[in-house]
Amino acid sequence: MATAAVATSSAATIFNSAADCCARRVFLVTNLQVPTRSSSAFLRTSRTINSHSRAASSICTSSSSSVVNAAMATEASAKVIDGKSIAKEIREEIAAEISRMKESIGIVPGLAVILVGERKDSATYVRNKKKACESVCIKSYEVHLAEDSTEREVLEHISSFNNDPSVHGILVQLPLPSHMNEQNVLNAVCTEKDVDGFSPLNIGRLAMRDREPLFVPCTPKGCIELLHRCGITIKGKRAVVIGRSNIVGMPAALLLQREDATVTIVHSRTKNPEEITREADIVISAVGQPNMVRGSWIKPGAVVIDVGINPVEDAKSPRGYRLVGDVCYEEASKIASAITPVPGGVGPMTIAMLLSNTLAAAKRAHKFE
Ligand code: NDP
Repeated sequence: MATAAVATSSAATIFNSAADCCARRVFLVTNLQVPTRSSSAFLRTSRTINSHSRAASSICTSSSSSVVNAAMATEASAKVIDGKSIAKEIREEIAAEISRMKESIGIVPGLAVILVGERKDSATYVRNKKKACESVCIKSYEVHLAEDSTEREVLEHISSFNNDPSVHGILVQLPLPSHMNEQNVLNAVCTEKDVDGFSPLNIGRLAMRDREPLFVPCTPKGCIELLHRCGITIKGKRAVVIGRSNIVGMPAALLLQREDATVTIVHSRTKNPEEITREADIVISAVGQPNMVRGSWIKPGAVVIDVGINPVEDAKSPRGYRLVGDVCYEEASKIASAITPVPGGVGPMTIAMLLSNTLAAAKRAHKFE
């Protein structure tokens, strides 16, 4: 078992627009316990974050099935999939590739972000994206418009970025003010620069055999990348995706299917979700319900990717809340073979995938291999 020194960091976790598009959600994370790691060790034992997860588990209400599971396994045995370390490694790879591109053709990728209004959370996300871009030498462009700007103004900026060859990716920070039509605005981003990968063309290609999307949405792409980098086989496995949103659940299911998993989607109208989920070798949960997936839902030895980020009240926390996933970590980590923590699992991967998509856009635009 790898032992990991535990360091406390007050890093603000960074997410892409997929992650932060929902106004109600709280995404900033501080005082996350982060273990140091050797370069090759992607997995750490769940023991290293038990102090963090214990608090989260206190709101997993007990049920008879969970008691059975607790009796079956009293120790956390799952490997913890360390998204933070893996994302860091990916950022380093991206930085090296950008440096090669710059040396070879004198070009660096450019990412433009359009922010409308004065929402503090949106401003924080944009700042974090900018910082992430700087860390890998992606040039970032930012337009900040007043809350009462018109849709036409936003469309004009998108059009100008569409026509700017130094901009390879365009993100419109969501949510937009209510007087704007989000679909109109997002549709205005040209497909070659749609680094979020949400356009119907991209999703359509993702769904079709023998077609390649220009971009894969960042969060589901991050989930699959975690599985790949942890050496987890997808081909031939039974996978359950809980949630079917356009930005996470649905593309995650499509991606798993492309990787030759047999995929079942569980949603709010599914009967017997627990029973169905228990058949899965791989579970990806993107629901937005704290601790909904209990230990009893998990097949022994399954791999669990928890996308959910849910703020729950915590009087002991200086902020009055803390973040938990969709999965009851304390229970699931005793049953699963590997599991992502929240925070520190999928979240850091999302921004890494945004940088990766921006690099891919620039390479494609300049035919750089
Ligand atoms: P949405 O609200 O868009 O979708 C939630 C999905 O969960 C829906 O498909 C819904 O089903 C399903 N659902 C809701 N309740 C249940 C239930 N009781 N049982 C089964 N399925 C249910 O959420 P998002 O996909 O945008 O986000 C999901 C979670 O992931 C959130 O916690 C969000 O914060 C987090 N997130 C994290 C990111 C990261 O980077 N880590 C990025 C993006 C999101 P139905 O379709 O029937 O309504």
